[in-house]
Amino acid sequence: MKITDGYILRRVADKNIVIASGEKSCKFRGILTLNDISARIWEYLKDNKTFDELLAYILSLYDIDEKAAGSDLKKTIARMESNGVLELSKEDLRNRVWNEEESSLAAYAACKHVPYTGMFELTPRCNFKCKMCYVHMSAAEIAACNAKELTAKQWLKLAEQAAGAGTLHLTLTGGEPLIRDDFEGIYTELSMMGFRLGINTNGSLISPRYERLFLKYPPRSMLVTLYGADADTYREVCGNPKAFDNVIQGLGFAAGLPTMLNIRATFIKDNKGQLERIRDIAHRYKSELAINPFVNKPLPGISADVENRRLSVGECIGVLEEQTAYYNKLGKNNEQKKAIVNSAFDGIGLGKPQ
Ligand code: SF4
Repeated sequence: MKITDGYILRRVADKNIVIASGEKSCKFRGILTLNDISARIWEYLKDNKTFDELLAYILSLYDIDEKAAGSDLKKTIARMESNGVLELSKEDLRNRVWNEEESSLAAYAACKHVPYTGMFELTPRCNFKCKMCYVHMSAAEIAACNAKELTAKQWLKLAEQAAGAGTLHLTLTGGEPLIRDDFEGIYTELSMMGFRLGINTNGSLISPRYERLFLKYPPRSMLVTLYGADADTYREVCGNPKAFDNVIQGLGFAAGLPTMLNIRATFIKDNKGQLERIRDIAHRYKSELAINPFVNKPLPGISADVENRRLSVGECIGVLEEQTAYYNKLGKNNEQKKAIVNSAFDGIGLGKPQ
């Protein structure tokens, strides 16, 4: 680590003052005051040094406890870094100790190259057959590829490895993950292993049995994707005539869980005119609806009608503009509503946490 070029330590009266010079003064217009120890650190870090070298230097100057010195040093470094006056090498970033005040656990894990979040696609099977689905396969299609789903035992083995590597957040998805006969067993084990679990689902299979399971072992979050505002649209888009009623029932169960519920809608040509009605449905359970008008191409061998059914660029923009206009109308000062519009334009499509 070293002091960033363009910052100067000045002595003014009996104070140590850091200011930016030249081009750097466009970025940093304030002043930073340093106590005498920090000023010594500053001088020492004009040349690139490691944390251990810096600690040894401080211990050679002052008669202080090594542990306390190390802790104070980390706070000083964090403060300098947050003000942009310190350049950290990749090695410094990797060795940095997590300080809750200055960074999230996720950011710290990223510095350490730890797979903090993960996603298990438990199955490519689904009880829907959406026209635009890029992943859905029937059991027969899986067999025709000479492929097999991983067993519960194999998933749990992978989970052990993930936990050992530092994964904390695990999203279970598919296909439709709730379609697996052994979902309850897999889910229970993962919950007992200490994962913070998320579930991505079409909502139609959230039965009273799963409601009981999720009340006992609540997932941290659940993302339910909607595909239409009525039974006819679900029949058209998802090929499942009972889907709509089941989804509405499932949403009711999901909304009663002690779980962060996110609702999203995917749009294709068949439902692009239903944004307002879908939003009304979502708002019965949640004050936010995220939208996703972007549909990927299918995996090789998947017989989805993606090219014909996905929205053109102009249609995607039309849906996004309609969503933006709606939330703009609710008032510019409503941060929650603005966040939803932002999520749509990010192309992420996920709702923000409640
Ligand atoms: S509900 Fe999701 S996984 Fe199932 S067919 Fe539709 S898009 Fe694919």
